[in-house]
Amino acid sequence: MQKTTLRVLVVDDDPADIELIRRHLSDIPTWQIQLLPCGSADQISEFLRGKRPDVVLLDYRLGPRSGLDVLRDMADLKDCCPVIVVTGTGGEDVAVQCMKLGAEDYLVKGLLTQANLERAILNALEKHQLRREAEQHRRQLEATVEELRTALEHVKRLQGLLPICMHCKRIRDDTGYWRQLEGYLLKHQGITFLLVDMKSPGVTVRPIIQMTGSPEFCETFFDNARVPLENVIGKVNEGWHVTTTALSHERGTMAFHRHAMMRLEFDELIELARRLRRGGRPAAADPLIRQRLAQCHAELELLRWTLYRNLTRRLQGEPVGSEGSIVKLYWSELYQRINALALDILGPASQIADGALAEEGGRWLFRFLKSRGDTIHSGTNQIQRNIIGERLLGLPR
Ligand SMILES: Cc1cc2nc3c(=O)[nH]c(=O)nc-3n(C[C@H](O)[C@H](O)[C@H](O)COP(=O)(O)OP(=O)(O)OC[C@H]3O[C@@H](n4cnc5c(N)ncnc54)[C@H](O)[C@@H]3O)c2cc1C
Repeated sequence: MQKTTLRVLVVDDDPADIELIRRHLSDIPTWQIQLLPCGSADQISEFLRGKRPDVVLLDYRLGPRSGLDVLRDMADLKDCCPVIVVTGTGGEDVAVQCMKLGAEDYLVKGLLTQANLERAILNALEKHQLRREAEQHRRQLEATVEELRTALEHVKRLQGLLPICMHCKRIRDDTGYWRQLEGYLLKHQGITFLLVDMKSPGVTVRPIIQMTGSPEFCETFFDNARVPLENVIGKVNEGWHVTTTALSHERGTMAFHRHAMMRLEFDELIELARRLRRGGRPAAADPLIRQRLAQCHAELELLRWTLYRNLTRRLQGEPVGSEGSIVKLYWSELYQRINALALDILGPASQIADGALAEEGGRWLFRFLKSRGDTIHSGTNQIQRNIIGERLLGLPR
């Protein structure tokens, strides 16, 4: 039978006790024992480093020092291999104290047998292994928590338009990747932000008729149009930064006027629901309509408080960041819901755009149609979700 080699360090100042342990251990058939006798507590460190034992049998009484002192002083003793304390008869109290200090097991000298020595060593080896694994997991967990904490700190710093890592000095670009400063500048070079006088020669504006029937937007063509240098906003080649800042304001800060407008229109809608009769009673008396009106009211309040929160950040000197995307996403979809509710309140009459039969001059239909473009312009809502996911939540691209 293949025997397992086991190096046992016996720390005892009585050679007779060491001899007794040697005899018991040599009778264990499965182990090839290498007994390492050590007569003094002062030599333990040397033995541990030089001989690397698998297990230590530590006598509780060691001349002037006790096993308890040894355990207390030598933190590394318990870490490198399991320790079994050997006490005198009636020394169980001491044994318990030793185990609190990290000993894996104890044996009573007067009751030593081959069987209980073997059991104690097996038990100590197993417990020590489990303890090491638990310690390893705890360290891994601590490292993970630390990494998460650092990552969260980084995320906090990334809320500006040009997030720069404090450590590696890289810039997180608009696609969510960390780039060397030079690479980033190169990619966005060649874009300059200009204010153009629309009456300049070479500028042609062609209105675009939308599905509302109204030309609120246009195509603009520039044919050899010239713009004076003083019309550059920011610096030449830094137009990307100006543009993303302007976009963030368009999406976030400027949504205050959106909220004000939506609130006014919503108040009109409540009036309409009170006034308009459906099935012999005001539309506002319909529980489903009331529920949807209440939902829109609550969401408008949420929008208002979100805008105030962003404004507070600006007032505290924080740069306008990607959170403008949350506002844009939220108001544009809410506005569509409010207008869809208006058409439901009006019923089939909502489809008449103008003329004497049109309810309220067809303005609710106009608003409904116009609101379809709100989830497209200033960056589509899919793009806003990308920005929120990548820049605010730190999700992978
Ligand atoms: C009412 C209105 C007013 C506008 N006003 C102006 C204006 O004043 N100035 C101006 O310059 N432009 C304006 N636009 C144009 C507007 O900015 C663009 O239409 C808009 O940014 C979308 O670009 P696109 O139409 O080329 O769609 P595309 O980029 O072709 O996108 C098509 C679809 O694919 C999705 N998509 C594209 N890329 C991704 C991606 N990476 N991840 C997920 N989904 C993606 C989009 O969300 C969209 O649903 C306006 C548009 C509208 C409707």
